[in-house]
Amino acid sequence: MRKPMDRICQHCGALIVGNAYRVTSEEEGTTLLNMIVCSLCFVEAKSLHLHAEAINIRSKEASTRNRGSHRPRLGI
Ligand SMILES: [Zn+2]
Repeated sequence: MRKPMDRICQHCGALIVGNAYRVTSEEEGTTLLNMIVCSLCFVEAKSLHLHAEAINIRSKEASTRNRGSHRPRLGI
């Protein structure tokens, strides 16, 4: 998985000091956008009606487990 070492906003390039956020956009099952952003870009993404969520870096194990059987994988 991805290491939480480099927290640079992938939208504006600023170093993310506080909370990091993930912005994703999917269309017809295809991921069009998936990037880590700062809080300002998170707000911007929200205003653009993109899906955005906070990344809880300290409890990454818990968040990994939360992804359990919620989204069944189709295909493959
Ligand atoms: Zn940013």
